[in-house]
Amino acid sequence: MRKPIDTLSGVEVNGEFERFDQRNEIYCRSIWDDEVRSAKAEAFFDGYYMPNAKARKTDGFGLKDYALRNAAWHVSNVIRDIEVAGSFRPTATQPPRKEGFWDCYTSHDEGWPEPLPVDDPADTTRELKRVARFFGAGDVGICAFDERWMYSRAYARDTGDGVDSKPQEIPEDLRHAIVVAQPMDADLIRTVPSALSGAATGLGYTHDSIVVILLAQYIRNLGYRAYASLNDSALGIPLGLQAGLGEVGRNGLLIHPEFGPRFRIGKVFTDLPLVDDKPANFGVADFCAQCDRCARACPPQALPYDAPSPHRHSKSNIAGVVKWTPNAEKCFGFWANQNTDCIICVRACPYNRDFSKRRHRAWRRLAATPLRRLALWLDDVFSDRARKRVLWWWQQH
Ligand code: SF4
Ligand code: SF4
Repeated sequence: MRKPIDTLSGVEVNGEFERFDQRNEIYCRSIWDDEVRSAKAEAFFDGYYMPNAKARKTDGFGLKDYALRNAAWHVSNVIRDIEVAGSFRPTATQPPRKEGFWDCYTSHDEGWPEPLPVDDPADTTRELKRVARFFGAGDVGICAFDERWMYSRAYARDTGDGVDSKPQEIPEDLRHAIVVAQPMDADLIRTVPSALSGAATGLGYTHDSIVVILLAQYIRNLGYRAYASLNDSALGIPLGLQAGLGEVGRNGLLIHPEFGPRFRIGKVFTDLPLVDDKPANFGVADFCAQCDRCARACPPQALPYDAPSPHRHSKSNIAGVVKWTPNAEKCFGFWANQNTDCIICVRACPYNRDFSKRRHRAWRRLAATPLRRLALWLDDVFSDRARKRVLWWWQQH
C-alpha cells in the first residue's frame, strides 16, 4: 500500500485504506443522505442563485454581499451548465453529461491526432508550467498519477436514482496529475464569515475552471490525453501534497509556501511525458503540532486538537490515512446554518499572510525552526486576525 512518494510527502496509509467513493463526500450526502440532508442545506445551495439568496441585515449577509459572491461563481456555473446542457460546442469530442460540478470537464475540442514526440520531458514540463501561468495559474505542480486518490466511483446525482455511484471516468493508465493552485483574495478572507467572503471561493473556482480547461485543451492539441477536473474525480489535497504545492495542516487543508491555506486546487490528468515535482517541506507539520488556532476558532469545533490519526468521524472521511481529519458533518452543518461557506480556519491560520513581504518570509523561516513557539507567539501578539466588518472591504480602493 505504501509507495515511495509517501516517504517524501509524509502520507501514512494503513491496512484499513479504501479508495473514497464520491457519493460519500459531504456535499453529495447533503443531496441523498437523510443524516445530512436538510431544508437549510437545500437553501444553502439554492442561495448561490440570486432569486434564492437569503439576504439579511447581519453584517456580511446583505444583498450586495450575495450579489458579489454569486457573480464571482458565475463563470464556473456557466461552464458547468454548458456541460449539463451541451449547448456550447457542437464539435466537442464527448457528449454532455448531467452532473457538471461532480464530473470532470468534457467540453474540449478534438486535439492533434498523433502525440507530438517528446525528446526531453524536463523541457516539456518547463513549457507546460509556462503555459499554465500564462493561462492564469497561481502555481502549478506535477506528481505521478496515483490511483489511491482517485474516487473509486463517481456520484450519479441525476443519471441514476440520486443515491448511487457510477464508474469513474478518468482512465487509470495516465501518467501524471498536474495540480494547479489558485490563490484567494486575502482581504475578502478577513471578513469571514460572510456571504461576501464567499466571493473569494467563487472567484477561485472560476479561475481554476478556466485554467484547467485551457491547460487540458493545450495538452490535447499536442496529441495527448488530458482531463480537466475541479473537486470531482479525485482528492485534490493528497495530489497537491505530492505535487509539492504545500503541506497538510491541522485544518485539513494544504498550506502553500506563498499562499498559505488561502487557495483552491484544480487538476489535469494526462499521459503527456512530464517530470514530477518533489513534495514541499517548510515545517508546517511541526508547526501545527504546536498550534491549534484553527481548531479554537472553528465555531462548531469540527477540527481536531490531537495528533494526526486514522480516526474517521464518518463515511465522509477517507479510510486508512493518518492525518488531521475535520468532522465534515459539523463543518457543513455550520455552512448550512449561516447560509454560505466558511473559512474561519483559514482566516485564523498564522500562515495566512502576505509572503511577498520580507517580514512575513522571515516569519516563515522562523516557523520552520525549533523556535516555532516564538513564531506562534509573534503571530498571536502582532497579527490582527479578528474578523473585519464588510464595510471595511467595500470601502477599500
Ligand atoms: S470551514 Fe469553518 S466550520 Fe469548517 S472547519 Fe473551518 S472554521 Fe470550522
Ligand atoms: S491555524 Fe495553526 S494548527 Fe491550524 S493549520 Fe494553521 S498553523 Fe496549523
